[in-house]
Parts: sequence; C-alpha cells; structure tokens
Amino acid sequence: MMQIQIDKSHILNAKYDVVVVGGGNAALCAALSAHENGARVLVLEAAPYDDRGGNSHYTGGAFRFAYSGVEDLRQITPMTDEELENVDFGSYTEEQFLDDMFELTEYRTDPNLCELLVRSSFETAKWVAKQGVKLHPGLGRQAYKVDGKFKFWGGLALHINGGGAELLRALYNTAEKHGIPIVYSTPATDLIRSGNRVVGVRTLSEGRDIEIEAAAVILACGGFESNPEMRARYLGPGWDVAKVRGTRYNMGQGLQMALRAGAQPYGNWSGCHSVAWDVNAPPFGDLTIGDQFQKHNYPFGIMVNARGERYVDEGANFHSHTYAKYGGEILKQPGMFAWQVFDAKVTHLLRGEYRIRRVTKVEAQTLEDIAPKLTGVDPAAFLQTVHEFNAACQTDIPFNPNIRDGRSTKGLLIDKSNWANPLDTAPFHAYHVTTGITFTFGGLKVSENSQVIDLYDQVVPGLYAAGEMVGGLFYSNYASGTGLMSGATFGRFAGAHAATFAGAAVN
Ligand SMILES: Cc1cc2nc3c(=O)[nH]c(=O)nc-3n(C[C@H](O)[C@H](O)[C@H](O)COP(=O)(O)OP(=O)(O)OC[C@H]3O[C@@H](n4cnc5c(N)ncnc54)[C@H](O)[C@@H]3O)c2cc1C
Repeated sequence: MMQIQIDKSHILNAKYDVVVVGGGNAALCAALSAHENGARVLVLEAAPYDDRGGNSHYTGGAFRFAYSGVEDLRQITPMTDEELENVDFGSYTEEQFLDDMFELTEYRTDPNLCELLVRSSFETAKWVAKQGVKLHPGLGRQAYKVDGKFKFWGGLALHINGGGAELLRALYNTAEKHGIPIVYSTPATDLIRSGNRVVGVRTLSEGRDIEIEAAAVILACGGFESNPEMRARYLGPGWDVAKVRGTRYNMGQGLQMALRAGAQPYGNWSGCHSVAWDVNAPPFGDLTIGDQFQKHNYPFGIMVNARGERYVDEGANFHSHTYAKYGGEILKQPGMFAWQVFDAKVTHLLRGEYRIRRVTKVEAQTLEDIAPKLTGVDPAAFLQTVHEFNAACQTDIPFNPNIRDGRSTKGLLIDKSNWANPLDTAPFHAYHVTTGITFTFGGLKVSENSQVIDLYDQVVPGLYAAGEMVGGLFYSNYASGTGLMSGATFGRFAGAHAATFAGAAVN
C-alpha cells in the first residue's frame, strides 16, 4: 500500500467535535457514525499507514448477528435462488445469540450490554453493509456439505468478503470519501481534562507533544494483548511469552489513559481470547498470512501434550464455542505446546489454514511412524493414548460434522463428546501448535451509549469507548465473530452519541 505524504501539522492543530483514537473496525465505525450525525471528526492511528487497522485487519471476517431466515440475509447481501438451492441457512435468533453469550461466559456477561449487542446486531450488520462492506455466505467454514446440501450451524451465516483486509479497505475508503482526516504514526498519549470532563487528547507526532481540542474523545484503541508486561501482570505467568496473533500496536495505552482519568475498570481483566497457533509463527501477526496460523479443526481429531496425553475434550462443542479458551489450555501444558493429530478420514473437512505453506506439519503412513515425528512428545505414551482412544470410540453412532453428533468416547479419563473417530486410516497428519493471544477481555465500564463510566458510576462527560476497550461482555470464553460485531455496535453508538454531545457542547 502507498500513502501520499501529507503535512499533518495543520490537521493536528485544528479543533474537532470528535477525536477517535484508533484505526481498527471499532474506530472507523465510530468515526463514520459521528460524521453521519454531523460531527467534525479526526482519526488518530498509532500505526503507520501500512500497518493500519489493528487486529481488525488480521481477521478472517466472521461476523455474528441474529437473523430469522434467508430473507434477512438477502437484505445484507444479494443471493440468487440458484445460489440458495443447496444451502440451508436456518435461523439464528436473538435468543440463540443471547444463550450462546450467557453460556460461553458462564453467565457473567453484562446483561444490559449483551442485550444491546445482540438485539441491535442485525441492524448493525445492515449499517456496516451500507458503509460499503461486502458479505458472503461462510460455506465450508460454518457449514459442511452433507448429502449434497450445506447446513449452517452455530450462527455466522455471513462472513466479510476478503476478511479484515477488505473490511478495512471499505471502511477507510468510505471515511476518505467523506473527507474524514486520518493521521498515521500518531498515538494518543493522554486525555486532556477540565474538571471531570474530557476536552481533548494529547498525541505524539514526529517526536512532538501536540494537544488537540475536542468536545468528545472516543477511545477505540484495543486492549493490552501486544504488551508483554501487562499480559504478565494481568493474565499471569507465561502469558508474556505467548505469541500475538495480530497487531503490535495494542499496548494498552488507551486503557491506561482512561484509568488515569478515573474510568472504571470492568470485566475479565485476567481473561483473554487465545487459540491454537502455529508454533513457528512470528511473535506478532503477519498481514500476508492473516489468521491462517490458527488451527481450528481439532474437533475432528485429537490433541496431545508433551506427555503424549489428551488434555481437553476436543469435541465438547463446535470449534466456535471452544477455540477461544482452548488456546489458554495449551499455555498450561509442559513446554507450552500441543500437537493436533488427524487421520485421512477427515482431511477433506480441514479448513484452508491446514494447507498453507508456512505450516508446521508432519505426516506418516502408520501411527508408529508418526509418533517419533511429534517433536517434544513421548512416543510410547502417545501410542498408548491413541490405542485407548480408538478402542473407546462409539462408532455405532453416525458421524455428522454439521451437528453435535454425540459420537463420543466411553470410559476415558477425558472423554471426547462428539465427532470421535478412531485414528485408523493412513496417511496420518499432525500440526504443532502453541498459544496465540488474540485480544484481552478486561476493559472499561460503559453506558448503553458507550459513554465511559467513572469509579463512582457516573458518566465521564466527553469520553467514550468502543471495541476491545469495552469491558464486561466476554469472560473466560467467546463466540466467534462477536469481536467485529461488538466493535461495529459500540463504535456506531459511541459515534452517534458523541456527535450529539458535541453539538450540545457547542450550543
Ligand atoms: C488473527 C485474528 C483473527 C480474528 N478473527 C476474527 C473474526 O473473524 N471475527 C471477529 O469478530 N473477530 C475476529 N478477531 C478479533 C477482532 O479482531 C477484534 O475483536 C476486533 O477487530 C477489535 O476491533 P477494535 O477496533 O476494538 O481493535 P483493533 O482492530 O485492534 O484496533 C485498535 C486500533 O488502535 C490503534 N492504537 C493502539 N493504541 C493506540 C494509541 N495510543 N493511539 C492511537 N491508536 C492506537 C491500533 O493501531 C489499531 O489501529 C480476530 C483477531 C485476530 C488477531
């Protein structure tokens, strides 16, 4: 990507209704919404132009929203009758979405925020599409072809076309078309206050401190996932050395400046989203690979640790219900790694991420031959685990990847609840994974308009938060596709309210 060099100083020395801090999905949605509601907006992005877009840029584009049937989906993306012939989208009701959020967070999600997220999700999806973002059916990712027909499971009917890269391209294009100034390599370093009100933001631009006056500031600058010191402090020992799946710019600076201004910390500060991630992936995300270092198809195989033991129920649920917490389980294993092992019966079900060139994979024709290839694993113990596992599979129950099929193991220390196939068909293949952190769950308390709430439950006038910075939604676990939806939802609310607040402040 190329950017024309511009002189930032006149942009930074102007006055704004709303300054948006961050350059990812939540920030761009906030900026577009504030502009739509009449505000004069500035966007500050810490990253340089080529790295703009935060974690949102790295996403595969899963986008969770409630819908009652295919006609709802057609309001978001055009689909012909022929395209729909062999696809059963079913529905994903608001109640199902709420149930997923409550169940996955062990009933800790903030009921008001969660309800707002869920009940406005369809409208938000339509609004995002109106900003120029294109969506398409997630065939092969959230629906498998069984008896000639794709059947969707677990929500997530539509994905963003081209993933995060296209999402960001569309949002940035629309912002630029509206003339919203965006400055790169310009991190916000602190909030400017007058009494309890936030009246602007301090930035660092080309080595100079600059103060920007604004009636409202929207913080949409991510969590602390990129900051090893904060990871160790809040998530615990070991997390400092986890690989980071996405941006290197989410250093927790937005959270720190908000806490200094008296914001209320909220949610699961010792929790995060993390996944199985290629053991040889670089320390931070690589935009040429995006999310493809992830390895999400473990429900169709087994996972073993250095002791050759299985350590979780791989088939407890669809991957979208377990992947975000199973990353953290790898961190607890000796050497902080695991191997995912499959046989040829399920190869066709594995997603594209298992076939990239930069994958740490071994293959063999027999279990005895693959055992010594699993670096770091006790081979004899591994073979014993597989033999016990194979013997425990209830193969009289039919295998079906589109439903929780109940084809479980019986009598193991850790049983596999669904999709339990004996590993008996060559070639066998295995993938070496470690923990990749996606984003942190701890954030700030916000109102239903995304206004930041202070330690004593009062609104901080002029301060808003969106995206990963909103606390209280996710605890321990997460439903895939909710991060982008949360960013769009609370970004949109923050932008609209901040624009009105700024108007009120001017009059
Ligand atoms: C590999 C990967 C795959 C994912 N896949 C999906 C998916 O398919 N679906 C889904 O819903 N979610 C997915 N997620 C999660 C999703 O990316 C996040 O939940 C969401 O994008 C967060 O949006 P955000 O705008 O809050 O943060 P980000 O997109 O991370 O944006 C934060 C922005 O703030 C900027 N910034 C940081 N500090 C400062 C500062 N001091 N001043 C100015 N700017 C600052 C950063 O540079 C960045 O631009 C994925 C994440 C990763 C890493």
